[in-house]
Amino acid sequence: MWISPGARAFSCLCETCLESARASGALFFDAMQQASVRGSVAEGATTTVVRCSAGHEIILRRTSRPAALDRPDGRQLQLA
Ligand SMILES: [Zn+2]
Repeated sequence: MWISPGARAFSCLCETCLESARASGALFFDAMQQASVRGSVAEGATTTVVRCSAGHEIILRRTSRPAALDRPDGRQLQLA
């Protein structure tokens, strides 16, 4: 999971929980409730490890990269 440079709090979904809920045929709402993880992050921390209610590890990384730079540039390389 990536969080923005100024973020003090986060909210995300545990993919492991979503996956196991889907496999067990749980209702979508129940799966979302189970997988939801919220919390706060220290202002200067670059990496924060959190756990969902089921104990799965989720690693949050702070990034300062603008979203536009996340686009793959493979096509530019091909044209060059
Ligand atoms: Zn989980």
